[in-house]
Amino acid sequence: MKFTVLTLFPEFVENALNTSILGKAGQKGLLSFNVVNIRDFSADKNKRVDDYTYGGGAGMLMQAQPVYDAYKSCAGENARTIYVSPKGKRFTQQDAESLSNEKNLVFICGHYEGIDERALEKTGAESYSIGDYVLTGGELPALVMIDAIARLCPGVLGNESSSEDESFNNDLLEYPQYTRPEVWEDMRVPEVLLTGDPKQVKAWRLEKSKEITAKVRPDLYNKYEKRCAVLDKLLKDKRNNIQMIEQLRRGIGEIISDDPLIIVNHTDRVALAGQEVDISADELISILPDHIRQVVVTERLAGKLLSDERFELSCSIINCVYTEKVHRKISNKDIRTLGIDSLDYVEGHYDLGGKGYARSRIEAGEVFGIYDNGVLAGFIGRHGEGSIGLLYVDEAFRGKGYAQDLESFMFNRALERGETPYGQVKIENDVSFSLQEKLGVYAGDKVFCWINIKRT
Ligand code: SAM
Repeated sequence: MKFTVLTLFPEFVENALNTSILGKAGQKGLLSFNVVNIRDFSADKNKRVDDYTYGGGAGMLMQAQPVYDAYKSCAGENARTIYVSPKGKRFTQQDAESLSNEKNLVFICGHYEGIDERALEKTGAESYSIGDYVLTGGELPALVMIDAIARLCPGVLGNESSSEDESFNNDLLEYPQYTRPEVWEDMRVPEVLLTGDPKQVKAWRLEKSKEITAKVRPDLYNKYEKRCAVLDKLLKDKRNNIQMIEQLRRGIGEIISDDPLIIVNHTDRVALAGQEVDISADELISILPDHIRQVVVTERLAGKLLSDERFELSCSIINCVYTEKVHRKISNKDIRTLGIDSLDYVEGHYDLGGKGYARSRIEAGEVFGIYDNGVLAGFIGRHGEGSIGLLYVDEAFRGKGYAQDLESFMFNRALERGETPYGQVKIENDVSFSLQEKLGVYAGDKVFCWINIKRT
């Protein structure tokens, strides 16, 4: 992932980016940083970049020309541009997760009273604030955002799971933690943490997380309670609701409305509507954030929405849930994460999700190939919203149980993460249904429709 920072203080930014975990990720080539000095683009002979504001008022403003020329020199195609500003949308952990899927982020750091609005308009920058206070410049906010985003990129944190169990995941703040020695200044590590019993430890941590969150962040705690209540309801029909349940359990879905129930996965730009939801196309559009591109609804609601030309059917599916807790046996163990060099192969055999989808899943490290004597024989993957899919086995290698091996591999992987493995099978795909049956998977009895939203 590439981060570009436009600033008047490049040394300050470079020092921070070259330090600690970010510095190491940069050295390993997991991240790349480009720091651009806006002053180098000043057309003024004295290299001035600021001037008085029209209409009067205290303080100076950064001029449009140097900012825009600096931007043009480095942004390139497909850049997502962010202006850090107290006027922006408040940056959250969910934004960090969503932005960690980008390939090319450009940050513009303001100074003085900020930046001439025209430069911001020309760059198409989105504004993000790191909190309700005013700093002297955008360097610290940009670094804060880069740090939060970069640590979610694959491989940046040494231990892959270390970002999975921390504050804000599942709307709770993290529990207290302890390291050696067991007794320090007469203070003992809580006994339960020494029991070696993972169940007890987990229960204690959850209780502590709840206690702390309720005390210091009642707003977050309310969100947590709402999520638990919604989950309880959804669990009454687990097979049909699994796509919504897993969004909430995995901390990748936000309840944007609980009546009617709508859960949004911002990263995948998809909304999921509860089974009881019965609203008009206009109402739905007014609830959904602008960036949402697809919605998953019951067949009944689909009938209603599809009479509106803003909605278009992508496919109709049934949920298939692997409810066992035991790992499945795999005969062919030569299953590897596919790299970008396999893109042509994957794209040649999988065309759902639109242009660039297969690439984005490979880049996320979520497509796996099965090999037969070193030859790629098929693949499987995990969709952005968490379901298992993208299954393909080359004709030459069919009948060898490779589809079962690939599915089993994905089930085991999901179980290791504490997830319930599930897939969504197109209603017309009889081959896949009989495969699911062999795998001991439970199919739901309701049809859901994936619907594309056409926005003007
Ligand atoms: N006049 C501006 C206002 O009232 O919104 C404040 C300008 S501030 C002194 C200078 C620069 O610092 C901003 O252009 C922005 O890039 C950055 N900045 C300051 N506080 C920030 C915050 N809370 N979040 C993000 N960026 C901030």
